[in-house]
Amino acid sequence: MGLIGIYNHPEAAKMAYFGLYAQQHRGQESCGILTWDGARQLDYRGLGLVPDVFNEDILNKLPGRIAVGHVRYGNKRQQLLRNAEPFCVRHGDLDLAVAHNGALVNSNVLRQKLENEGAIFHTDTDSELMVHLIILHLGKHDLVEAVRRACLEVEGAYCFLILANDTLIAARDPYGVRPLSLGKTGDTLVIASETCALDLLDAGDLGTIEPGEMLIIDKNGISRESLGITAPRRHCIFELVYFARPDSIVFDEEVYSCRKRMGNQMSIESTPDADFVLPFPDSGVYCALGFAQQSGLPYEHAIIRNHYVGRTFIQPTQEMRNFGVRVKLNPVRGFLRNKRVILADDSIVRGTTIRTRARHLRELGVKEVHFRVSSPPVTHPCFYGVDFPSRKELIASSQGKDEIEKFIGLDSLEYLSIEGLRKTVSHPDNFCYACFTGEYPIRCPGCEPDDDSNDEE
Ligand code: 5GP
Ligand code: MG
Repeated sequence: MGLIGIYNHPEAAKMAYFGLYAQQHRGQESCGILTWDGARQLDYRGLGLVPDVFNEDILNKLPGRIAVGHVRYGNKRQQLLRNAEPFCVRHGDLDLAVAHNGALVNSNVLRQKLENEGAIFHTDTDSELMVHLIILHLGKHDLVEAVRRACLEVEGAYCFLILANDTLIAARDPYGVRPLSLGKTGDTLVIASETCALDLLDAGDLGTIEPGEMLIIDKNGISRESLGITAPRRHCIFELVYFARPDSIVFDEEVYSCRKRMGNQMSIESTPDADFVLPFPDSGVYCALGFAQQSGLPYEHAIIRNHYVGRTFIQPTQEMRNFGVRVKLNPVRGFLRNKRVILADDSIVRGTTIRTRARHLRELGVKEVHFRVSSPPVTHPCFYGVDFPSRKELIASSQGKDEIEKFIGLDSLEYLSIEGLRKTVSHPDNFCYACFTGEYPIRCPGCEPDDDSNDEE
């Protein structure tokens, strides 16, 4: 999921729109923008992509100098309009809105407790839970202290953007699992999940909201407060492997260069004899470049992507086998025939790409297909905000390298090692590798070793 916050701009909603547009890759299920028009909060949300949900007309109906926006990640279980964020309520004379990037690990427990006490929830979101918690604390504390206490109650990975009337608060969990950056353009402050949004809005990078920190922006300016809890840093390594845009700086790493280093490392660990390196566009491009530069082998871009394929193209029927594969990516068959290729991609999750696309290359007469993956096997689900499937659906949790190799008919398959991956970042101990190792830094139901309770999904 992706967040944008705009403070003090005459066209805050439009700025938020572009900030979300730049972060569309962080969530395509739904989006929303909420503004403060000087007297109250106004909001609009919809299912679908940012440019499909919003137009000039709608943005014009969201006046105000402050805006908060959100894009929601595809999650097949909850494709509901009511889960689109920001979530907002009116309580007394307070308009309160929350948008969230991350995943809380104790939300079920907290929701159950509140429901037992009579609370009614409208959505499945952690943002709504946060609204309840903040309002309960507001009875006894001022706004900042109420937000702080609410943050102390929730556990897991979170970046919250909270707009209380015209006060904007950003809070980030003490592990710093997900990224959150601050920027400035003119007199306007911008908060965004990724710096690519700051670039688009021409906002200079003022650094991050630190793990375990709250940033408060109101009429008096900016202030920073500690949540009062410390934890070791555990940034999500998968943001660097796949999730973030390569033109962003995330956890002080330039994503583009980091992905190339993953490719360098792959090549250092295993370079077969081949004619060239070939990426699966777009996610495989950067590791393939790194692999080619390290190995000295040519880089060829001979799988072509159709950039106009939306998420909702009509599914082909059973008889149109392989059609679905070719809609988005089509190999340059004449060029590839009888070649020995090193095929590079960033990750193997369910195994769909490798099962369909790698096999398709084989069928086209590519002589040798060596598959190189710039991350270790994803064997464990993520409880902190990446929507990986349950263990059962993760191909690497049930099938070893040799099995997959044989099953697909690959000449070889190699993953980047954990040690190799660690070499691609400056502070490897500050990262969470749970999806590769099963070592979960934040305890939660389902993450105990050999606990298969999440397999029921
Ligand atoms: P697989 O095809 O093995 O199921 O997934 C791996 C491919 O999907 C890779 O090409 C990778 O770029 C992409 N991928 C990795 N993680 C995610 C994710 O969380 N969501 C989506 N939509 N794609 C992903
Ligand atoms: Mg991909």
